[in-house]
Amino acid sequence: EAMQDPADREERILVSVRLRPLNDKERARNDVPEWECINDTTIIYRSDLSASDRSLYPTAYTFDRVFRADASTRQVYEEAAKEVALSVVNGINSSIFAYGQTSSGKTYTMSGVTEYTVADIFNYIQKHTEREFVLKFSAIEIYNESVRDLLSTDSTPLRLLDDPERGTVIERLTEATMRDWNHFKELISFCEAQRQIGETSLNEASSRSHQILRLTIESSACEFLGNDKSSSLAASVNFVDLAGSERASQTNSAGTRLKEGCHINRSLLTLGTVIRKLSKGRNGHIPFRDSKLTRILQSSLGGNARTAIICTMSPARIHVEQTRNTLLFASCAK
Ligand code: ADP
Ligand code: MG
Repeated sequence: EAMQDPADREERILVSVRLRPLNDKERARNDVPEWECINDTTIIYRSDLSASDRSLYPTAYTFDRVFRADASTRQVYEEAAKEVALSVVNGINSSIFAYGQTSSGKTYTMSGVTEYTVADIFNYIQKHTEREFVLKFSAIEIYNESVRDLLSTDSTPLRLLDDPERGTVIERLTEATMRDWNHFKELISFCEAQRQIGETSLNEASSRSHQILRLTIESSACEFLGNDKSSSLAASVNFVDLAGSERASQTNSAGTRLKEGCHINRSLLTLGTVIRKLSKGRNGHIPFRDSKLTRILQSSLGGNARTAIICTMSPARIHVEQTRNTLLFASCAK
């Protein structure tokens, strides 16, 4: 296997795009797939563009990896997330994002990616008996710039504190020590139940809120093997299911205002700015502190942290405008 330049790997954000299949509703409306992956890295717009649109929009987009509608989540995990997610066992923080408009497949993709990562981490722990591991799990939701603990029945917003050593910490956040796979599944179900409480429409809530599941691995060499106890490692991997990307802007690409109820989402907007600046190199001011999401993720975004973004997209004609916005975001993150 060819060695990659480690400096290069560390700097770059891994950006991939996943196309979902047309759903029944879209098919019933005789919608057709407008996008096609022509190889592992390029996605194209299939329909002819009018002369005026041709000067506005690219017809081909290239990323680290693109996934066709029939790709499995296992495949997406293996090729677009695994390496970044598992860097956590080597003490490196990481974040995996799902970005895309509501109903494009963010939750579908991210829940699978989270499960495969947890399974791989449990396997890793089992194989590495020379080290002792503690695996911690926490979960939050950010809704209207308010942070909520999904492992608690108390929905009082949590405060963010600045710790001189650890950076931004979430005050009173529940951290569960994860025992095994079944315990993980229980914690996930608990979080899902918490999200639904008090929400008239889960879809509406999930389109506006960000969910972060965080796994923290602490490990140290076993003393009885005569190892040096000082070689302890701790790092977190964050699985971020973002608010619908239609919340990122108030205007659609034609420059007109979107309908009422579609407010700018500060965290999503700031994340876009942070990602764009990070992808251009680490010089200059990066506005991590401008939103709750970017404050919470700061130690897992800049510096030595690894980042992967999976942009999910609908193939449908009715979604073409939003899909173009998603592809534009993905292009800026490269
Ligand atoms: P989002 O979280 O972006 O709003 P969801 O993940 O909830 O979207 O996906 C919307 C619907 O489409 C769900 O019913 C989901 O099961 C389905 N779906 C999403 N992506 C895929 C896919 N790649 N293959 C099959 N079904 C999918
Ligand atoms: Mg969702």
